[in-house]
Amino acid sequence: MENIKGKVIAITGASSGIGEAIARHLSGLGAKVVLGARRLAKLETIANDIVNKGGQVVYKKLDVTQPDDVKDFVNFAIGEFNTIDVFINNAGLMPLSMINAYKVDEWHKMIDVNIKGVLHGIAAALPVFEEKDSGQFINITSVGDRWVGPTSTVYSATKFAVRAISEGLRQEVSDNIRVTIVAPGATESELAETISDPELKKVAIEQFRVNLLPAEAIARAVAYAISQPSEVDVNELVVRPTAQKAY
Ligand code: NDP
Repeated sequence: MENIKGKVIAITGASSGIGEAIARHLSGLGAKVVLGARRLAKLETIANDIVNKGGQVVYKKLDVTQPDDVKDFVNFAIGEFNTIDVFINNAGLMPLSMINAYKVDEWHKMIDVNIKGVLHGIAAALPVFEEKDSGQFINITSVGDRWVGPTSTVYSATKFAVRAISEGLRQEVSDNIRVTIVAPGATESELAETISDPELKKVAIEQFRVNLLPAEAIARAVAYAISQPSEVDVNELVVRPTAQKAY
């Protein structure tokens, strides 16, 4: 694939699921990957695997809810690899619940990670992209960035927000900075673990988390967007399991 080898690509939420798959896939295509998440031991294991396969990787503990942490993550990447070419806002939570369960703390957590975390990523990486007048944001949203149903209200709201932020950002930045959203359907990962209501978790897993895509499928979509020539900005990619029809 063109335009990936040698690029420095920072990935938030790289310790499991889609972020991990993106890291492994892009590294296999020759990118220098920078992994961030809170679970350092998981990052270490993934990084060791990548190194054993001949890849170039560094990792750092990262909490995207803390703006200074995200700035430090970007500075760390630059210190290790001299620049950043792509910043992937992937970290996210999905504690689904009905509004009248009043899980206000979980609403706050989703807003903090899924929306503010993305804004912190933009605030940290955009100055680097503006300075060199090139770069690419890839924001991992969800089919929930355009669909909402019972229990997904707040989660979908966070993803609608990221879609809006991405579209506004795309229009505001220079002609040489790309902004892409990748919106996955149901994909293998640890995401359902964030549902705190055991009954709801069971229903979500039985009804919605079926026919799951391998996380690698989303990694391939990310690679496609990066691999385009710099004057081609793939704005949105929606990737569902073929059998996922209703949402
Ligand atoms: P996982 O739960 O497997 O991965 C979520 C990642 O986010 C983990 O690496 C976790 O790492 C990280 N994370 C959570 N909170 C923070 C934080 N405060 N700071 C830094 N990292 C954090 O789920 P997925 O791989 O599925 O999720 C990745 C993205 O894909 C999310 O944005 C999700 O909304 C989106 N998505 C997933 C779908 C699916 O079906 N799997 C469908 C649609 C969208 P750690 O705990 O180590 O910090």
